[in-house]
Amino acid sequence: MHHTTDQTVARATVAPNLVDYEAARTAFDWADARALLAGLPDGAGCNIAWEALDRHVAEGRGGQVALRLLGRAGGRREVTYAELAEQSGRFAAGLEQLQVAAGEVVVVVCGRQLDLFVAVLGALKRRCVVCPVFSAFGPEPIATRLQLSSAAVLVTTPDLYRRKVAERRGDLPALRHVIVTGDAATAPDGTLALDPLLAGAPAGYRIAPTSADDPALLHFTSGTTGTPKGAVHVHGAVVAHHVTARLVLDLHDGDVVWCTADPGWVTGTSYGIIGPLTCGVTLVVDEAEIDPARWYAILADEAVDVWYTAPTAIRMLMRAGTDVPGLDRPRPHLRLACSVGEPLAPDAVEWGERHLGLPFHDTWWQTETGGIMVANFRSMPIRPGSMGRPLPGIEVALVACDDEGDLVRTPAGEVVLLDGAAQGMLALRTPWPSMFRSYLGAPDRYAACFAPAAGATWYLSGDVVRRDRDGYLWFVARADDVIKTSGHLIGPFEVERVLVEHEAVAEAGVYAVPDPVAGALVHAVVVLTTDTVERLAGGDPGEVLRSVMAHARRHLGASVAPRQILVADDLPKTRSGKILRRVLRARELGLPVGDLSTLETGAVQTGAVQTGAVQSGAVQSGAVETGARP
Ligand code: ATP
Ligand code: MG
Repeated sequence: MHHTTDQTVARATVAPNLVDYEAARTAFDWADARALLAGLPDGAGCNIAWEALDRHVAEGRGGQVALRLLGRAGGRREVTYAELAEQSGRFAAGLEQLQVAAGEVVVVVCGRQLDLFVAVLGALKRRCVVCPVFSAFGPEPIATRLQLSSAAVLVTTPDLYRRKVAERRGDLPALRHVIVTGDAATAPDGTLALDPLLAGAPAGYRIAPTSADDPALLHFTSGTTGTPKGAVHVHGAVVAHHVTARLVLDLHDGDVVWCTADPGWVTGTSYGIIGPLTCGVTLVVDEAEIDPARWYAILADEAVDVWYTAPTAIRMLMRAGTDVPGLDRPRPHLRLACSVGEPLAPDAVEWGERHLGLPFHDTWWQTETGGIMVANFRSMPIRPGSMGRPLPGIEVALVACDDEGDLVRTPAGEVVLLDGAAQGMLALRTPWPSMFRSYLGAPDRYAACFAPAAGATWYLSGDVVRRDRDGYLWFVARADDVIKTSGHLIGPFEVERVLVEHEAVAEAGVYAVPDPVAGALVHAVVVLTTDTVERLAGGDPGEVLRSVMAHARRHLGASVAPRQILVADDLPKTRSGKILRRVLRARELGLPVGDLSTLETGAVQTGAVQTGAVQSGAVQSGAVETGARP
C-alpha cells in the first residue's frame, strides 16, 4: 500500500468542483456553462482556439505554462499560453497567405510535439476544419482519411511525409499544400517548411467572427466495429469540453494534467488539448509511447495532479507487475485518475487503489458525443465496474431492445424508453453542445443514429448498458457484440471481466461463434502472464487454462462460461488500443475480417491466434469435464 499521510493531505486540500451530484444536476444549465467562456471580443462569436489560448492572454495569464513537452529521448520544454497563442496565430496567418479558406480541411499527422499544437489551434483560428490523424498509422489509412475529408492542407513531418504520403500524393487532387515541420533545408520536394512559414507570417492574428455552429473538428472513430466514420464537430463543442474538464476531470487553477491519448483520437483532442487549455492549466505532453517505468517517473517527476488514461494502458501497467521502478514513489499531487475507451474491469479500479493510492474513475463517451457524457465524479463513491452517472445537463435514457438486441419500435416509429433499473441501449437526449453534426459523406448513417420518443429526439449510442436502482450505469456490450446463447443475452465484457480476475490472465477477448443448438457459443482468447504460468503450472499453459476454465464456470455458470479458451501472445486491437473481438471471431471462423485499417500492426503479426497455441493450448469444455474438473 502506498497511502501516505502526505498524499492524503495534499489531495484533501483541493475541494472537488462538483461537490454534490444531485444538487449540481438540478442546478445545471447549459446557458450558465456557456457563460463560463469568454466569447470572441465584440460579440464576434465562439472560437475554440480563442477560449483555449488568447482568452488567457487577454486576461493577463499569458505567462502561465500551457505545455510541458517531454521529448522521446529525454529533454523537457515549456511553452506558455502567450507563446502558443502567438505561434498558432502565425500559423493561421500563414494559412491565410496560402489562400486556405474557412471551412477547408486541415489534416495534421504529427507526433506529440509542439508543432502539432500550433497547427491544430492555428487552423481553428483560421476557422478551418481540423482533423488530427494518429501518426503511427500506415500510408493506407492516412491516404484514406486525406481522401475522405478532401483535405486541402496536410501538416506533417518530413520523415512521415516521405515514408507515408509522398507516393500517394497523385491520388490526392484536393490536397493543395503539404506543410512539413522544420526548415526549408529538410523539406522534401513538393512541400513547404513550417518554420519559415511561421517566421514570415505576421503576429497578432485576429480571429474572424466564428459561429458556435461552424464546423471545427473532424474525428474518425476507432473502427472497432467496422470502417471508421468521420464525425464532424462544431466550435460550440468547447462549452462541453470546458464543463467536463471542470466537473469530471475536476481541473483547478495551477493543475498539471496528463492525458495519455494521442490527439489523433477524440480523447487526445478534447482532453489532451482543448478542455484543459480552456481551464488555463499546464498539460504534460509525452512524445514517447507507453512504458511503465517512464510513466511512473512522469507521474512523480512532473507532479501530475490529474491523469486521464485508458483501460488498455492500465492493463499494460498491471501486466508489467509491481517490480517496475517508480511504482512505489510518492505521488502527493495525484488527485484523480480517470479512464475511457473500453470497459474498465473492477480489478483495474482496485489495482489503482492498491498500487497508485487512488482508484481509476471510469468515464464513458464516444467520438460522436465529443465529450464525456457519463462519469464517476470525484466526489461520488465509485462502484467498481460501473461507468458512473450522467453528466449534469445530459439526460440519458435506456431504449428497449428485443431478444436479438434490435431496437423495439412503436407503430409510429418511436423507440421505447425504459424506467428505473433496466437494461437497454444507451440514448442521449439531443441536443448538447459537443454533439456531432454529421458523419462525413454518410447522411443516412447519421440520420439512423436518431429516433423520437416522449416528445424528444434521442441519439442512439449503439452501446447496451444496465442501470441500477441508484442510476449508476454499467456497460454491457456494443449492440452488435451482444451474444445470445441458450436463451441468455450476454455481453463479452461480462465474461472478460471474470476471466481477468484469474491471476494468470492479463487480457481476454470474448466473442460468439454460431451453434445450431445454442444459437451461439461463447469463445475466448486470453493472454497469460508468463510468470504466473511458470509459478502455477511449471510453464504448462494447458494446465493454467483448465484452471481459468474452472474459474469461469464457477463465476458465470456453465451456460455462459466460455466453451473454448485459446491462448495468444497478444490480442488484436485498434490503434487506439481497443480489443477487436470481430477479428478474433472472423479468424476462428475463417471469415473475412472486414476493415483492418485501424488494426495495430504489431497485433497483425503477433495477435493472430497462432495455430500452435490453438492446438496445444486450447481447452474445450469437453476436456474440462473429462479431465480436470475441480
Ligand atoms: P467504431 O465506432 O468505429 O466502431 P469505436 O466505437 O470504438 O469505433 P470510439 O468513438 O473511439 O470508437 O469509441 C467509443 C466507444 O468506446 C463507445 O461507444 C463504447 O463502446 C466504448 N467505450 C468508451 N468508453 C467506455 C467505457 N467507459 N466503458 C465501456 N465502453 C466504453
Ligand atoms: Mg463507435
